[in-house]
Amino acid sequence: MPIFEFHCHNCNQDFEKLVFGADPEVSCPHCGQTKVEKLMSACAAKVGQKYTAASSGGKSSCTGCAATSCSTCG
Ligand SMILES: [Zn+2]
Repeated sequence: MPIFEFHCHNCNQDFEKLVFGADPEVSCPHCGQTKVEKLMSACAAKVGQKYTAASSGGKSSCTGCAATSCSTCG
């Protein structure tokens, strides 16, 4: 579900909105202002963290063996 978080500069409120399309026109539900900033959604942030942790985290097996103890595992 493409739910994005937005920030309204007019009333200084954050809100989430379900949007479709790459660049939809979103208006603030509090004041109706369309000058809103798209923020990274909480969902996307979580995925990003997970990805970062997985890629930089603990050593996993190398492509040459199923364990982590062969000479090419490093
Ligand atoms: Zn607003």
